[in-house]
This record gives sequence, structure tokens and C-alpha cells, in this order.
Amino acid sequence: AAQSEDDILPPPPANNRLQQQQRQQRNVVTKRGIPSLHPKKDSSTVQPNPPSDPVVDDRLKNIDPRMIEMVENEILTATQTVTWDDIAGLSQAKRAVHMAVIYPLLRPELFQGIRAPPKGLLLFGPPGTGKTLIGKCIASQAGATFFNISASSLTSKWIGEGEKMVRALFAVARVRQPTVIFIDEIDSLLTQRTDGEQEATRRIKTEFLVQLDGCGTSSEDRIILVGATNRPQELDEAARRRFPKRLYVPLPDRAGRRTIVTNLLRSQVHSLDDANLDLVCDRTAGFSGADMDTLCREAAFGPIRSICDNIIEAREDEVRPINFEDFEYALTQVRPSVSDKDLVIHIEFNKLYGMSS
Ligand code: ADP
Repeated sequence: AAQSEDDILPPPPANNRLQQQQRQQRNVVTKRGIPSLHPKKDSSTVQPNPPSDPVVDDRLKNIDPRMIEMVENEILTATQTVTWDDIAGLSQAKRAVHMAVIYPLLRPELFQGIRAPPKGLLLFGPPGTGKTLIGKCIASQAGATFFNISASSLTSKWIGEGEKMVRALFAVARVRQPTVIFIDEIDSLLTQRTDGEQEATRRIKTEFLVQLDGCGTSSEDRIILVGATNRPQELDEAARRRFPKRLYVPLPDRAGRRTIVTNLLRSQVHSLDDANLDLVCDRTAGFSGADMDTLCREAAFGPIRSICDNIIEAREDEVRPINFEDFEYALTQVRPSVSDKDLVIHIEFNKLYGMSS
């Protein structure tokens, strides 16, 4: 009978076994289904020294493996498909994002030298207007890895380790290029260090600035940093200089609100006609995209509320369509979350420092 190679050959020498083991490690995936850069070691086998382990990319050599794992599990986000059509309205912002970020990521050879794009794009505007959606869409459309982190979690969630985390984040981002790093509440990382600030926070900010400034040094790097803030007025001149492209993400206009409602109702049984939808849009001036989302979800509960005595037994086809009255009721429950005072701040900042698209 034919013998397999394994039967004929002596056991592989130790370094071959090591290679096999390293090959296996390469296939380990993180919690979110993303192949891990720094797989956990199998404790049953002899391990090489971590720094000389060729599986670990050179750029990760001086990074704490625990931090790499945390970045991969907590910050790296499996790329969801988000299309520009998923983002209602904001046509100017979308155009500007294409020129500033998408085209340079897709055609880096056209954006060299003095055409090289700045590494950072600042999105400012009231909460719930689609800044995170834009970040996800950039990553999705440019085929980039998406890292999503909020600045406050750096100072609170990883107490005492935020600084290492920042270093690991940028190192992993380099290895996984093209990359979009989305940092929410970026104002809190860029604002001037205050006296009462904790030492740990101070160190995180310093490390962040070091990494941010180092990010654009290699023209090969395809890392885009998208910072989002609801408080642009807190950014001083130095912070603004680091983000020369500053894009206003405003509240949705009437057409934008309509698109959001229509998209959300698409998958539901409803009886709203065009005139009803017009009325909903008329009555939601000042609502953010997130407010519109909340409104529609509240309205969608109307039919369920009307069968509340019988939810357990009701057949699916007994649930009536969502109607205009459900929206009228929802409008008594959901109020716009953005104040006029806040809006003025964004409009003023946009006039002074926003980019035109
Ligand atoms: P931000 O980052 O500006 O605070 P998000 O992008 O997280 O806001 O938006 C929160 C939610 O609000 C989104 O998941 C989406 O449901 C809805 N939303 C906000 N703006 C839009 C928009 N322009 N188009 C569609 N949905 C939107």
C-alpha cells in the first residue's frame, strides 16, 4: 500500500515544527472573525522568544501582545457594508469626503507630493447626524480596515493602559493598511492639557499626538484618521492645524429626513402615503438622523401596543400596518435632541474653520 509522506519521513526537526505551528497561528481569528495578527500561543508547545517570532510583524515587535489582542477584539470592527445610499442627505459632505479621503485611498498614485491628502479628517456637527456612519462608509467603500474608538473609553475603560493602547492601535493600523481609524469625541484628546488633569490622561494625550504626528511621515502609509466631535469650539489652533480638513455634518434637511423615514419603513407594513410622509417631515424640523430613527421605532410599536392584550397569541398577519396616527403619537414622545444654542456653535465654527466642499 502507498505510504504517506508522514510514514516515510522522520519527524520534522524542531525548527520545522515551529514553522508549522506558526502557520497554524496565522489562521487564528479574533472574536469578531477577523484574522488575528497576534494569535494566542499554545502553551503545550515550546515557544520561541516573542521578539524573534517571525509571525509577529516587525512593526508590532515592541508592542505589548495583550494590547494587540485588545485592539483586535475591542476596537477593530468587522467591516460592515455601508453604502453612501445608507446615509441620507449630506450630499455636500459626501462629495467632500470622496475628494479628501476615498479617492486618495483608492488611487494613491494620483495623490502624491503636494497632492498628498492630509492624514486627518475632522467631522463636526451635532450628535446623531451620521458622523460614525460616514466613518464606516469610508472604510467599507475603500476596502479598508475600520477601527472605532471613543476617546473617553481610552481614559476610562483601559485605566492605566490607555497610553499603551494608543501605541498598539496605531501599530496594528499600520500593519492592516489601508485603515480608517475613527475616533469619537476627539476634542477630549486634542484639547490643551489642563492643570487638574490626571497624569494618566496627560500621558495618553501626549502619546496620541506623537502617533498622530508620526502617522503621515511615510508616504506609503494608507491610514486615514477620522476624528468626530460635537464640541468643535473646544479645539484650539494647534488642534485645528492637525486637522486641516474640517467637515460640517449638519442636521438632515427635509429631504434627508424623508429618506431616513422611507428607508426605515421599507421593511415594514405601513399605510402612510406621500401626503402623510410630507406631514411627518414638516413636523420634524430640527430632528437629527438619530432622532428620526427613534421616532420611527416609536411609531413602529403602535401596532404592537394595539394588540397588547394578545401579543403572545396574535398571528403575524393580525398585526395592523403602521399608520400616520402612530407617527402622531410618536411625535408627542420624541423631541429633537439638539438645541438651537448648540446649532449656532456648529454653524459659527463652520463659517470660521469648515472646509467648503
Ligand atoms: P454621530 O456619529 O454623528 O453621533 P451616528 O452616525 O452614530 O451619529 O448616527 C446614529 C444613528 O442615527 C445611525 O445609526 C442612523 O440610524 C441614524 N442616522 C444619523 N444620521 C443619519 C443619516 N444622515 N442617514 C441615515 N441615518 C442616520
